[in-house]
Amino acid sequence: MLEQLTKRFAYMPADGSVDRPILGAVLGDERTLYIDAGNSRRHASAFREAVRAAHAVREPMTALTHWHWDHAFGAPYERMPLIAHRRTREALAKLVGLDWSDEALDERVRTGEEIEFCTSYIKKEFGEIRDIEIALPDMTFDRSVTLHLGSVDCVIDHIGGVHADDHSIVYIPEERVLFLGDALGPAIYDGPRYYDAVDLLRLIDRVREYPAEWYIESHSQPVKAEAFWAEITEFRTLAELVLEIGDDERRIEAELAKRLRRELSEDDRRTVEQFVLGSRKKQR
Ligand SMILES: [Zn+2]
Repeated sequence: MLEQLTKRFAYMPADGSVDRPILGAVLGDERTLYIDAGNSRRHASAFREAVRAAHAVREPMTALTHWHWDHAFGAPYERMPLIAHRRTREALAKLVGLDWSDEALDERVRTGEEIEFCTSYIKKEFGEIRDIEIALPDMTFDRSVTLHLGSVDCVIDHIGGVHADDHSIVYIPEERVLFLGDALGPAIYDGPRYYDAVDLLRLIDRVREYPAEWYIESHSQPVKAEAFWAEITEFRTLAELVLEIGDDERRIEAELAKRLRRELSEDDRRTVEQFVLGSRKKQR
């Protein structure tokens, strides 16, 4: 259940069945940093028990990549210093005191405050026991903060993006691990999912600044630099085509297949559609 990626970085894999993202632990000589709190107390407890069973946990603290429930709702388990971007705290503060019953969730979906995707997984993860409580970060930052954990550092940088404008990524220089969270993901709270080509190119340029060997996207699995950049290069090609061609979906598909020198998969076609939607949103 706990995987050791490098000497000082361990993680628990994602579980798509209940939308649990990857959780990370950076093992310093003086402090342990948990990256993301998990989607529930149960998720946090499963992870932290596994870390404790394998390692000496010292003065633990938790950093959140962004406010989304699957990354933040585990934070009330074993309260410890919680650090996040200022906007992550602001977004979480809006959730304090909300009713999480089925009826209340369904009503928020109806009014557009919540989305069906999240409520269905919240219902699944929490079942009848809606022990949801919102823990607010004790420490916030605006652009960047570096945590010195003892023989290993963590650089937390705000990066934003359409997935969540509060999004931060965590770089661990000694391990050359870059924890990206959902930073490269599509917008999910604003109608059908979409990507913004300009923003994606900006994000890719930012990510390129880190000389990482391992890249971690929360709902996937850690990948080595070569595989990561091969995939990102295709993503980049698509974003550039959208800027070049606009919203002509068929033409983008044809040109993309040509440039990638392969047939497009169902996933590729869905991604094209999400970019085209993003491009139409901008024109409006
Ligand atoms: Zn997210």
